[in-house]
Amino acid sequence: MSYQKVALVTGGSSGIGLGIATEFAKAGYKLVINGLEKNGNEIAANLAKTYNTEVLFSPANLMKVEEIEQLMQLPETKFGRLDVLVNNAGMQFVAPIDEFPVQRWDMIIALNLTASFHTSRLAWKGMKERKFGRIINITSAHSLRASAFKSAYVASKHGVAGLTKTLALEGAPYNITCNAIAPGYVRTPLVEGQIADQAKAHNMSEEEVIAKVMLAKHAVKDFVSTELLGKAALFLASDDAHMITGITLPIEGGWTSQ
Ligand code: NAD
Repeated sequence: MSYQKVALVTGGSSGIGLGIATEFAKAGYKLVINGLEKNGNEIAANLAKTYNTEVLFSPANLMKVEEIEQLMQLPETKFGRLDVLVNNAGMQFVAPIDEFPVQRWDMIIALNLTASFHTSRLAWKGMKERKFGRIINITSAHSLRASAFKSAYVASKHGVAGLTKTLALEGAPYNITCNAIAPGYVRTPLVEGQIADQAKAHNMSEEEVIAKVMLAKHAVKDFVSTELLGKAALFLASDDAHMITGITLPIEGGWTSQ
């Protein structure tokens, strides 16, 4: 890179987001990571020290528009630009439709779908002016397939797939690409929670949920690694990937081939 590019990763202080932030830090990007982790500043400082770059942490709550607005000012004010936006923060809740708590539905749509609209609209002006932008949405195999008891999650992820295609069309004249990566199961804190929830919903042991519910969906019987997702995001963020836009890249061990 002729200059140090800047990336912002929502939910970058845990799980997949941290895996992506790590690959970008390794590649020399300056970073803003966001999340609700109490030790977010420490995580950012560790990344910066390990990879000899600058990493800022923001605890902005992405369910609040004012906090998203503050978050999106950070890269421009601290680093002078934002080149890559990774919309990764997300949450899950598992319950049958007739028992699905209404407040949970609203929260999932707000975080998994609406927050990506806000971050993208706020990143847009700078990317358009600089004629370079890469927006990468971490969706899910559940943006392509459904599973019972996950109505809000599946609806939100299908929604982001639609947002991805729309922004690809709007961004094309300005060298702004927008793509989605759709992981299968990745063993992160989010999935650890789901294993327990699914065990209750299906009346199974946690081992049975992993083998019979989760990895049963993958043709390749393994969890997806955060490193692989980080490397894929890094490629989509590169100059070389300028002709790839509007796609959903499944990284799900063959789940959606079935
Ligand atoms: P995780 O729980 O480890 O991380 C989620 C991150 O989002 C955390 O940093 C958390 O603090 C942040 N977050 C949650 N609520 C927030 C809020 N209101 N404001 C700001 N940040 C908030 O989860 P993960 O497994 O790494 O998931 C990351 C993304 O990948 C999600 O969008 C998820 O749907 C998607 N995904 C995960 C899997 C998987 O198997 N783990 C599979 C497919 C897709």
